Amino acid sequence: MPDAIKEINALRAELRRYSESYYNEDKSLVTDFEYDAKMRRLRELEEANPELRDANSPTVVVGGVASSAFAPVTHTVPLQSLTDVFSSAEVEAFFEKTAEAAGPDGFTVEPKIDGLSVALYYENGEFVRGATRGDGNVGEDVTANLNTIASIPKTLKNVTSLAVRGEVYMPKAVFEELNAEREIRGEQLMANPRNGAAGSLRQHDPKICAERRLDILVFNIQQVDGRAFQTHAETLDYLRELGFHTIDYTVADTAVAVTDEIARIGDERGKFDFDIDGAVVKINALSVREELGSTSKAPRWAVAYKYPPEERETELLDIIIQVGRTGVLTPKAVVKPVRLSGTTVSNATLHNADFIAERDIRIGDTVILRKAGEIIPEVVQVVAAKRPDGAVPYEFPATCPECGGAVSRDEGGAAIRCHGAECPAQLLRNLAHFASRKAMDIEGLGIAIAKQLLEEKLVASAADLYTLDAKTLEKMERFGKKSADNLVAQIEKSKSRGLAPLLYALGIPQIGESAAKTLAARFGSMDAITAASVENLTAVDDIGEVTAAYLRDWLEMPQSQHLLGKLRDAGVDMTAEIKSEGGKFSGMTFVLTGALSRYTRDEAAALIEARGGKVSGSVSKKTSVVVAGEDAGSKLTKAQELGVRVADESEFEEMLKD
Ligand code: NAD
Repeated sequence: MPDAIKEINALRAELRRYSESYYNEDKSLVTDFEYDAKMRRLRELEEANPELRDANSPTVVVGGVASSAFAPVTHTVPLQSLTDVFSSAEVEAFFEKTAEAAGPDGFTVEPKIDGLSVALYYENGEFVRGATRGDGNVGEDVTANLNTIASIPKTLKNVTSLAVRGEVYMPKAVFEELNAEREIRGEQLMANPRNGAAGSLRQHDPKICAERRLDILVFNIQQVDGRAFQTHAETLDYLRELGFHTIDYTVADTAVAVTDEIARIGDERGKFDFDIDGAVVKINALSVREELGSTSKAPRWAVAYKYPPEERETELLDIIIQVGRTGVLTPKAVVKPVRLSGTTVSNATLHNADFIAERDIRIGDTVILRKAGEIIPEVVQVVAAKRPDGAVPYEFPATCPECGGAVSRDEGGAAIRCHGAECPAQLLRNLAHFASRKAMDIEGLGIAIAKQLLEEKLVASAADLYTLDAKTLEKMERFGKKSADNLVAQIEKSKSRGLAPLLYALGIPQIGESAAKTLAARFGSMDAITAASVENLTAVDDIGEVTAAYLRDWLEMPQSQHLLGKLRDAGVDMTAEIKSEGGKFSGMTFVLTGALSRYTRDEAAALIEARGGKVSGSVSKKTSVVVAGEDAGSKLTKAQELGVRVADESEFEEMLKD
């Protein structure tokens, strides 16, 4: 018994933590499958130990709370959850238990959209309020955001009071498009369309929500004045006539028809423009629903069948490397085609180099593929017993397969990234970044125009922007004479941005805006930077060894020099005014002699150079200061002879201070 108490408490705490993150922060800490498995285990334990039941258990209450960031809306009819089932046997058991009561109207079977539940309230034919589910009784007022969803009718004819319930979702195509743009801008990606929809609907600025192009499918009448219906199917037809986008349903009156329909929805899930996480079986007759009622959490007249993640064995034919828009090399498995969750799968993700190495995945291996929900199929593991003779460990490429550029592992991460300045895979992102405000500031050249220029093959690198003329641009869609002239003028203007914005615009790893400014002010020209050694670079304040090494590697790549050559030929300014750190030591020459206790020679020299001073090896009349440490020898003597200023270590430290 104590074991059951312990496990129940642990599961409740775990499930609450997952729910909190899922509903309130729109983030999944575990997959839905894992969450459902834990919920199911908790339900079993509570059933076996009735004395341990608790009215606040996650099995009893609807997950989620209404955040105080939105005005509360008390639902006129609670927005409940559904009882989940995970096998055909359980669906059949539900059917057997309720078929007699359900009567001749049978059951409806509908896709279960994986989105965000909302209620829409209409008064006198006007859409007046819309709210999230919240804890089922009190939701969040998101009317302003719902108003941005085109498919929600804002007025209804011949309707007085009406409340409907539906699922707001982000269409798959929109999700992919928005994530691709986020990737280009280096922003965090949305994990899945469900989180995307939930995050968008809970924005405080409706303009942001409008950009997310959400949609809704309505699946229930919660309350209606002046109309009476016999069946759920009739209500859906009525809602469709009113202009709502409604969920598709099929009426089924035998257990086989119900399970067949569930299987069909599962097979065709790839065709929907929304993600589904199951199918919902509902008693069709509304009077029967009334009779059966519900528990505190879910109606007794419906169940949600959750599709299991499917797994299949197949052969790994090849591993190909795709280079993403941010330069990350992602390994993809090419597999012998198999049917999985309703689609034919011939590719699967292998995540990254570590994933392959840790599992020792080899070309020719038999592997297990999994597809959970709408997530891209992944290789889960190798069937070691089926490894063919001669299969060799996979070697991850040492250069970029797209451009041959140098690749390196992200610091502290698993991603391996190409740094090619002209890598075709990264062109769109590179162009958009090159033109961005803090870089070359080419107004009017955003992602959409960059895409167009690439599609029309007008540019193959950032330098090609400088070859564009207004006549060519004018012929393109979305361009007129004025916008073409403006863009060309903006491009022309960008030539004189100077070295710091240019360095940043090149997208060199580790060179952000601030490092670019520091380098430009210290070296004054691209030539000087190209000639600088790692030591020269690290001598500059704020430029560490990692940054210096990345910069040197980038400069040494032939494609970087090719790009710089083209930019130079186009007349792009590659100079900056040299400003040594406050100019403190500018024009001064230092000689270091003897041993300093707090710095090595190199460190002391770097500190001087970073302040604009020069370090020389021999003392002459031109020497400004000789820094003399312990056991200083002939250089100190010479300084004294020539009357050159001598500073000991503490004086030197004083001089370094600003
Ligand atoms: P649920 O998702 O199992 O079912 C209820 C919901 O289904 C309703 O709110 C409704 O809006 C929606 N729905 C979609 N289409 C429908 C249709 N045609 N008819 C009726 N309802 C339809 O239950 P829940 O309480 O909303 O959420 C629990 C589920 O959320 C879990 O099973 C899990 O999948 C997921 N979850 C995941 C995590 C995580 O960390 N991954 C955490 C919490 C919840």
